[in-house]
Amino acid sequence: MRTFEARKAALLDSMRGRVATGVRKRTSSNLFRYTPRVQGGRGLDLSRFSHCLALDSEARVLDVEGSATFEAIVDYTLPQGCVPCVTPELKHITIGGATVGIGIESNCFRYGFVHDGLLEAEVLLPGGRVVLCRPDNEYSDLFYGLPNSYGTLGYILRAKMRLMPAKPYVHLGTARYTDLDAFLDAMRAATLREDIDFIEGIFFDARRLYLTLSRFVDRAPRVDDILRRNIFYKLIQEQPDVYLTTKDYLFRYDPEWFWNIPEGWPYRVFRRFAPARLRNSGFYKRYTQRKHALLQWLPWTAKDEEEPLIQDWEVPWEQAAELTRFALREVDLGGKPWIVTPIRTPRSPTLYPVPANTLYYNLGCYCQVKKRPEKGDYWYTRIMDRECFARGGVKMLYSSTFLSREDFDRIYNGEAYRRLKRNYDPEGRLGDLYAKCVAHPQ
Ligand SMILES: Cc1cc2nc3c(=O)[nH]c(=O)nc-3n(C[C@H](O)[C@H](O)[C@H](O)COP(=O)(O)OP(=O)(O)OC[C@H]3O[C@@H](n4cnc5c(N)ncnc54)[C@H](O)[C@@H]3O)c2cc1C
Repeated sequence: MRTFEARKAALLDSMRGRVATGVRKRTSSNLFRYTPRVQGGRGLDLSRFSHCLALDSEARVLDVEGSATFEAIVDYTLPQGCVPCVTPELKHITIGGATVGIGIESNCFRYGFVHDGLLEAEVLLPGGRVVLCRPDNEYSDLFYGLPNSYGTLGYILRAKMRLMPAKPYVHLGTARYTDLDAFLDAMRAATLREDIDFIEGIFFDARRLYLTLSRFVDRAPRVDDILRRNIFYKLIQEQPDVYLTTKDYLFRYDPEWFWNIPEGWPYRVFRRFAPARLRNSGFYKRYTQRKHALLQWLPWTAKDEEEPLIQDWEVPWEQAAELTRFALREVDLGGKPWIVTPIRTPRSPTLYPVPANTLYYNLGCYCQVKKRPEKGDYWYTRIMDRECFARGGVKMLYSSTFLSREDFDRIYNGEAYRRLKRNYDPEGRLGDLYAKCVAHPQ
C-alpha cells in the first residue's frame, strides 16, 4: 500500500468497527513496567504506519505516520538540514509513543517536550472514527489531552511536527564539577545562552559531576566513534572536547542502552565486532527480556537481589539541589551515573500539568540497583517517587509508579481525564491511565 490514505482505509476495513487495546509495531516497546500488565488480544497492528510522508524544509514541518521511529525521521530530515525539535535518545522510540508518553532530550530547556512540537494529529478513536485534532479546532481538547494519555484516548495514525534547523556535527564540551551547587548554577546559567544547543549533566557522587554543553557545528576536526571504540558516557569524562555526527549525538545513548551493556570481555568483543544492526537498544531490550525469562525458570538463580530503577522525575528548579542530595544519600547506583537536564515547556498539557515557562529539573536513572531485602519491593522507586511528589514534582509514567488513586488524580488532572474519556472513549475500551501506569497503590 503506497499511500497513507490507502493504509488507513485498509486498517479501518480490517477492524470492522472495533479498535483493539494496545498497539503492535515493528519495534519493541520502550515502556518499562515492573509488573506485567494484562492485555486483551494482540493489539492493533500499526506497523505499516511507519513512513515519513512529506517535509516542508522552509516551514520546517514534517508530515509523518504514528509508528515512524525517530531514527527513520532523522534519516529523512537531517539531509535537508533539520531534525525534530526534541529527539529522544533511543532510535526505536516512535513519534506516536513519544507524544502520548512524554519525550525528553538535552534541548528541552529550549523546545519543551516532544509533544510541544506537535501541530496536528489524526487520531483513531476507539469507536473506529478518525478525527483530525489541532489546537484551534473542535477537537482541541483531544489535542491537548494526548500527552501522557498512553494510548487510552486513541491512536495517532499521522502527525504534523515542527522541526528545528540542524548542522552536520555537534561539538560537546564537558567540564567536571566537585560541588553540586556550582554544577547546578552552571547548568541553569547555560539555559540563558543563545550559543548553546544542548545541556546535559551526569554525576556519580557529590564530587564527581560532569556538565556537557553542546552546539551544532558545520565542520569537525575529527569525529569520535561511540559505536565501537568508545562508550559515550565514559568518553565525555575522559575528553573535554568530543565531536560527533549529529545523528550519533541525537542517539548517543542508543548503542549502550545508556550504560546497560556490561563491560566484561564477551561484551567488549560484541561491541567491537557485532553487526551495526545489533548495536542498538531495540536488540538489547529483546535480548535482556529473553534472558530474564529464561533465568526465572532456573532454580538456582538468586532472585530479588536487584531491583530495576528506570525512571525520570521532574521537579521545579528550586528543588533540584535537595532532590539530588536525597538521591545521592539514599540510592546507590553501583557506579552507574544519574543523568539530568533542564526543561522549560511553552505550554502545559492537560494530563501532564508542568507549568508553562517555568524551569524544571529532570533527574533520570536507568539501571538495576542492588536490593536490600529488608527494604521490601521496589523500595528505591517508592522513596524517590515520594520525595519527588513531596517537592511539587511530577514523573514520566513509562515505567512503574506508586501512588494512590486520589494522589494520581491530583497530580495528573484526573477530573479532566475523566471528561476526555467521556468524550472519546465512553465505553472505556482503551483502558484506564491509572490502571496502566501504577504498579501497586500505596
Ligand atoms: C529504558 C528507557 C529509556 C528511555 N529513554 C528515553 C529517552 O531517552 N528519551 C525519551 O524521551 N523517552 C525515553 N523513554 C520513554 C519513552 O519515550 C516512552 O516510554 C515512550 O512512550 C515509548 O514510545 P514507543 O514508541 O517505544 O512506544 P511503546 O513503548 O510501544 O508504547 C508506549 C505507549 O504509547 C502507546 N502508543 C504507541 N504508539 C501509539 C500511537 N501511535 N498512538 C497512540 N498511542 C500509542 C502505547 O499504547 C503505549 O501505551 C525511555 C523509556 C525506557 C524504558
